[in-house]
Amino acid sequence: MDIPVIDAHIHVQPWRMVKPEALRLMQGNRPDVARLSEMMYDPAMFLRHLDEERIERVVNINYVSPDIMGFSEEALVYAADYARRCGGRMIAVGSVHPTLTRDPDRAMDGLIAAGFRGIKMHPSHQPCRPNAYREGNRVLETAYRRAEEAGLVLVVHTGTSIFPGARNVHADPIYCDDIAIDFPRLRIVLAHGGRPLWMETALFLARRFPNVTIDLSGIPPGKLLEYFPRLEEFADKMLWGSDWPAPGVRGMRANADRFLELPLSDGARRKILHENAERVFGP
Ligand SMILES: [Zn+2]
Repeated sequence: MDIPVIDAHIHVQPWRMVKPEALRLMQGNRPDVARLSEMMYDPAMFLRHLDEERIERVVNINYVSPDIMGFSEEALVYAADYARRCGGRMIAVGSVHPTLTRDPDRAMDGLIAAGFRGIKMHPSHQPCRPNAYREGNRVLETAYRRAEEAGLVLVVHTGTSIFPGARNVHADPIYCDDIAIDFPRLRIVLAHGGRPLWMETALFLARRFPNVTIDLSGIPPGKLLEYFPRLEEFADKMLWGSDWPAPGVRGMRANADRFLELPLSDGARRKILHENAERVFGP
């Protein structure tokens, strides 16, 4: 059985911008660092890699985080350009910055014009609660409202991060309960399903709200059923993602193959690997 795979959470990012401590952690002791470093600036090479890995399409996530990761707004210019050069095979997700963006309407205009299909909010790397608009954060209020109007997806990182300086106090998915209520037409993806501390909260939200889904990236695929024992039952609410090339992720295909070994129905596999991502992010 060959199911086409959409990997709904990867990171092709401008590594030259990343702070040295964060870069050390990102690259870990991967044997393929030199090749990856080149691929981060070579879309043709990346497309060949997708072919080799038999991955149909990817959702590529970039976000502004100058203080913790080193990504300035230039990362978004890079991300839009890279995706354009990948044709339809890369769906780009960009971001505003909840406390540094000066003119959120203009920033959203720019993201929409550049072809971004979603925005990422990273509560631990842009340190801010994702529901801070309820206490007057105008950037998030504008970004969510504009994303809802324009049909952009909101991807919120949920769950821990070990990058130096990451603020995990904000990364509990429960804050997204507010967003789903206040922006009912906004499609919200809870990246990483709150792992490893808040899976039950993430699943609660995905069950409660029709427009909330979970991406399974960042969880070792062999452990998915420990994290989400009811994966089969809620297969409609789950998107496949690898978080490649994060430390510990062997590869997009290696992770997908490991997923396919789990005792799930073909219907559930098809939804998770392909159909749900197409529904959320568009064809
Ligand atoms: Zn990620």
